[in-house]
Amino acid sequence: GDKQPTNLNALADEYLKIAYHGLRAKDKDFICELVTDFDPSLGPVDVVSQEIGRVLLNLYNNAFYAVYEKQKTAPADYQPAVSVRTQRSESGVEIRVKDNGTGIPESVKAKIFQPFFTTKPTGEGTGLGLSLSYDIVTKGHGGILTVESLPGQGTEFVITLPTKV
Ligand code: ADP
Ligand code: MG
Repeated sequence: GDKQPTNLNALADEYLKIAYHGLRAKDKDFICELVTDFDPSLGPVDVVSQEIGRVLLNLYNNAFYAVYEKQKTAPADYQPAVSVRTQRSESGVEIRVKDNGTGIPESVKAKIFQPFFTTKPTGEGTGLGLSLSYDIVTKGHGGILTVESLPGQGTEFVITLPTKV
């Protein structure tokens, strides 16, 4: 696809709602706090919007899965939350997708970007989401995709996309 100037705030907001709606369609009793913090000064960024949308959807679906799983065993006062934040960085823009779900153990973290790696039961995960996302961000857009996670606490993925000068 062709890169077009894209409002990443709108894209990130739209896909957050799509992902949440998808989960609620399966379990209408599941409530998750959605937190958004969009930099209003972010100008349009040249991306293939369907591709970055797909990356966002993968990250959100993983985030919702992680909070959903955590809630099964967490104390009653656990409040699931998924957040997205955009901000400018030195070389471009960052989109941060954060959850307070299960977190990722160090031994698992080393493998999450590998194709077909999944910790999910058959039928719930193909293990392709993050490897595809990594290729879209890095090879497709010259960007960076990183992850920080504290097992038991949650996870944050950061997409960094370059902006041309
Ligand atoms: P899938 O979702 O099909 O398992 P992905 O490539 O999207 O494949 O993710 C690979 C693995 O990375 C997941 O199975 C899970 O173990 C881990 N993972 C990804 N995102 C998160 C997250 N937000 N919280 C906890 N674990 C995650
Ligand atoms: Mg996934």
